[in-house]
Amino acid sequence: MVKQTIQIFARVKPPVRKHQQGIYSIDEDEKLIPSLEIILPRDLADGFVNNKRESYKFKFQRIFDQDAKQETIFENIAKPVAGSVLEGYNGTIFAYGQTGSGKTFTITGGAERYSDRGIIPRTLSYIFEQLQKDSSKMYTTHISYLEIYNECGYDLLDPRHEASSLEDLPKVTILEDPDQNIHLKNLTLHQATTEEEALNLLFLGDTNRMIAETPMNQASTRSHCIFTIHLSSKEPGSATVRHAKLHLVDLAGSERVAKTGVGGHLLTEAKYINLSLHYLEQVIIALSEKHRSHIPYRNSMMTSVLRDSLGGNCMTTMIATLSLEKRNLDESISTCRFAQRVALIKNEAVLNEEIDPRLMIKRLQKEIQELKDELAMVTAEQRTEALTEAELLQLEKLITSFLEDQDPESRLEVGADMRKVHHCFHHLKKLLNDKKIFGNNTVSNTVSSESKDQDCQEPLKEEEYRKLRDILKQRDNEINILVNMLKKEKKKAQEALHLAGMDRREFRHSQSPPFPPGNPEEGQRMRLSSAPSQAQDFSILGNRSSLLHKKTGMREEMSLGRQEAFEIFKRDHADSVTIDDNKQILKQRFSEAKALGESINEARSKIGHLKEEITQRHIQQVALGISENMAVPLMPDQQEEKLRSQLEEEKRRYKTMFTRLKALKVEIEHLQLLMDKAKVKLQKEFEVWWAEEATNLQVKSPAVNSLDHTKPFLQTSDSQHEQSQLFSNKSDVNARKILPSPCPSPHSQKQSSTSTPLEDRFGKQLNFQEVSSHALCPQERSTDEGSAPHLPWLQK
Ligand code: ADP
Ligand code: MG
Repeated sequence: MVKQTIQIFARVKPPVRKHQQGIYSIDEDEKLIPSLEIILPRDLADGFVNNKRESYKFKFQRIFDQDAKQETIFENIAKPVAGSVLEGYNGTIFAYGQTGSGKTFTITGGAERYSDRGIIPRTLSYIFEQLQKDSSKMYTTHISYLEIYNECGYDLLDPRHEASSLEDLPKVTILEDPDQNIHLKNLTLHQATTEEEALNLLFLGDTNRMIAETPMNQASTRSHCIFTIHLSSKEPGSATVRHAKLHLVDLAGSERVAKTGVGGHLLTEAKYINLSLHYLEQVIIALSEKHRSHIPYRNSMMTSVLRDSLGGNCMTTMIATLSLEKRNLDESISTCRFAQRVALIKNEAVLNEEIDPRLMIKRLQKEIQELKDELAMVTAEQRTEALTEAELLQLEKLITSFLEDQDPESRLEVGADMRKVHHCFHHLKKLLNDKKIFGNNTVSNTVSSESKDQDCQEPLKEEEYRKLRDILKQRDNEINILVNMLKKEKKKAQEALHLAGMDRREFRHSQSPPFPPGNPEEGQRMRLSSAPSQAQDFSILGNRSSLLHKKTGMREEMSLGRQEAFEIFKRDHADSVTIDDNKQILKQRFSEAKALGESINEARSKIGHLKEEITQRHIQQVALGISENMAVPLMPDQQEEKLRSQLEEEKRRYKTMFTRLKALKVEIEHLQLLMDKAKVKLQKEFEVWWAEEATNLQVKSPAVNSLDHTKPFLQTSDSQHEQSQLFSNKSDVNARKILPSPCPSPHSQKQSSTSTPLEDRFGKQLNFQEVSSHALCPQERSTDEGSAPHLPWLQK
């Protein structure tokens, strides 16, 4: 058992605005515990809630300043936790702080650069690397990803991929067993056998999270996300299995309701969020106070789920994320205060060991056999499972004579054999039951015993027939339903195959193989071992791509106008720069991988040649020894030594290149996933914008009519189809519902007041869709995180 208080770390985010000096200082000179001092500027200190203090000091395990790299955070915070999870202890890392302070950046990572990947992908990398190294145990890894929003849990790894809002995802509920263990109903666990598979799951969850969120309803700041790695390990031959869980938690923004200052629907949400974090605080307070027997875990879903992480069987670590700017000082102070309380909580982590039931059964079977053998030795008779026919007959005779014996002292002696004792009881029960039926029938019947028997069997038969007929009918129905289902499934599978085929062709087309043929042994092993997972990659990619299409309103079905609008939207969108950058990096990595593959090939053939040369030299020496009748020298000569050192050098080079190639593979995979995610985001934002434009168009329907009048393009069946498609599209309707046009769209006003077609930058006439898309010029996404979510291009 490991007793430990919750470890607290602080991470300060780089400022959005120019550096504001003198707001905080980090004191790491004190050798034992570093501390963070937040200094209130005079103007703020005066009005600060009844408090004249000018500086606040908080102690942390370690404080990471603005320039701390993601790698450093992983090495110092997550790696030790991952290490204990590998040993079989539960672990939790949670990030706490106001919106925009860097929780998601720390836990998941930035969406742009490979070097920005956060704790989750790095931990997955580390865990799988360790599992590969440790051949003394057998490991299984499962992943789950839960989002809690407004006290409801949602499974982010929904395999159906059809969600367009959070409510479409399967709802996860909490069940508590008699031992008060928490179980999450509907939360799927997905097995991941490689780092790639686990990463794909992370990206699937993040994409679902992003898609479920709409700009006006940024669930990510108001929801908690719990990514869990479930690890089981077992030594070969041992019946003991160890289970450990690692929760990586991105909590909702910790800002207070009063500060959000919003009304109506959003207020309800803010209240909820605060409620849930409020309950977390209550649990923390209760835990940090001595002699409190009741801890109010059950008050909220989040505290129920994290029950073990807070004051239970878990090694827990908290990262307080701080955005130390003047306007955020009160929130930062409250984050640090919360951390100080958390640091008082003691946890007791134990190894979660369990006996494997299958192995247990085997053990018990062995024990039974041994006992049977012992018994046979004692009684000197071999016992089988069941009694023989002769023994049964003998027993029944004994029972009959026992029943007929009028002597009250008479006994039924069967010996010390439990099989016989049980059979006697069974037989007696049967006789008793038969007698009951028999007795009932005799009340109204005085005919011979034979006819009585028939009488009591007749109604039984009738009953039996009826039952059988019913069952038969039921089965018939079931078979019909199953046949129908099968037909549907077959059709679906054919469609999916067709789609997957298309995606695969697309994928193959865009990806040249990074590994040239004929790699050396290890290279081949790598290619071979990754073959099945590559096949899966394709299917996951296929899924991803169909998911992308499904969720973004089927781009293939876009009309020409809409497609063109999308192209312009894409070109002008801030994220397209990132996508292009990543594309470039990806290209570089591909060519690097290709070049490496070639060098590896060269090294391999060089190794082959050197080996061959050494063998040849040996043969020559032996031949020389025979012809000159001399003993073969035991020590290699100088020439051979040189060859050997060359061989060693070449092997070293080969290994280095091979390791680099492996790392490149992971990086390429990560970049591809980042790009996929960026593409989904882009399409989603386009859909929202499109729906917004369509709403405007409806509101200003007279204008549309006048437009229709002057712009024949809009009257085409294509665009009419577009309209109907638009409003039948679920996500569009949703988006329309939640997008009450926060700021009037100047370009739509423009198009309602003017009926002159505009010239676009290509000098051709534009219809309405094109005008509006042309007008959007998404600037860099504002990083003013505290402000309400907005559509930057609508404000232009
Ligand atoms: P939160 O999840 O707490 O609301 P985010 O993680 O989304 O905050 O961070 C807000 C913004 O700040 C993001 O654009 C993110 O990339 C950036 N950011 C946060 N922390 C850092 C950091 N340590 N270094 C660089 N950028 C950061
Ligand atoms: Mg976040």
